[in-house]
Amino acid sequence: MKILVSDKLAEEALEVLRKEAEVDYFEPTPEELLEVIEKYDAIIVRSRTKVRADAIEKGKNLRVIGRAGVGVDNIDVKKATEKGIPVVNAPRGSTHSVAELVFGHMLSLARHLAYADRSMREGKWEKKKLKGIELQDKTLGLIGFGRIGQEVWKLAKVFGMKCIAFDPYIPEDFIKEKGAEPGSLEDVLRNADFISIHALLTDETKHMISDEQLGMMKKSAYIINCARGGIIDEDALYKALKEGEIAGAALDVFENEPPGKTPLFELDNIVFTPHLGASTKEAQIRAGVTTAEQVLKVLRGEKPDFIVNPEVLEQK
Ligand code: NAD
Repeated sequence: MKILVSDKLAEEALEVLRKEAEVDYFEPTPEELLEVIEKYDAIIVRSRTKVRADAIEKGKNLRVIGRAGVGVDNIDVKKATEKGIPVVNAPRGSTHSVAELVFGHMLSLARHLAYADRSMREGKWEKKKLKGIELQDKTLGLIGFGRIGQEVWKLAKVFGMKCIAFDPYIPEDFIKEKGAEPGSLEDVLRNADFISIHALLTDETKHMISDEQLGMMKKSAYIINCARGGIIDEDALYKALKEGEIAGAALDVFENEPPGKTPLFELDNIVFTPHLGASTKEAQIRAGVTTAEQVLKVLRGEKPDFIVNPEVLEQK
């Protein structure tokens, strides 16, 4: 069995693969990929390699495509499905890493950490100005109660927070079972002290947080987006922060990445990270090892646990 690993993968994942297969690990250009793909039973990518329709056509021996991560925008899943090739991934690899980043942002907002650091570097000692708040006894508002939303709530419990969660696709009883209170979007916006977004970006969620929604938030509340850029309308956010309609915000994701020169950079009550949610050593290892295991399962003729196009299994 020959596997091509065409993007940087954790050494731990390569070890898993090498136990059962011959592994070639290099980063081909799109043209090189077309030349070599025929030799392989499987290809594993992260986000650099584009597995397009032409590569899938040329991959006469391809039996599985692995994506060491969640999103599969760089893989032509439709073509793979047409050819009966399973696309497997690692949807839980970064769940905990993203949840911890949310807490990094929440604490940074509550205690003005990023601002305090900047101010001290300018030679200031603004102790009085920088009085913060505790997370304890505050209400966390979750928009999206999937994998990451639930993980954030798990951590929030340890901080002594309460939680209202809005997710139209998750049964209210499930939210209650997890100890959170189900609510509408408006309930979350009006009552939460910290709102964290964990929904998918869809037509429905694009700009779901705009002027009207920000206007419903408490003046003392903070909003955090570590999901996808575009769920918060950045122009509306700028206005709400500038006019003091809300206390602050943190963004890990942006409508355009990188965001270029955005007016949001002028403001002190917002904290930024450059899409770091999944960027931890542990998440990369977890995603790599899980994907390696999924790819080997398919090659052994077993059913994978995480498959993007399950309909191909029914075809077999
Ligand atoms: P998930 O599929 O487990 O959960 C998403 C939840 O959003 C689902 O429960 C779904 O019902 C809910 N949802 C869909 N439409 C909604 C709506 N209109 N209102 C409220 N909720 C809605 O996904 P996940 O793994 O928890 O990922 C959550 C988000 O985090 C995704 O947008 C994902 O792309 C993003 N993400 C970001 C990073 C990062 O680096 N910052 C890393 C991984 C994932």
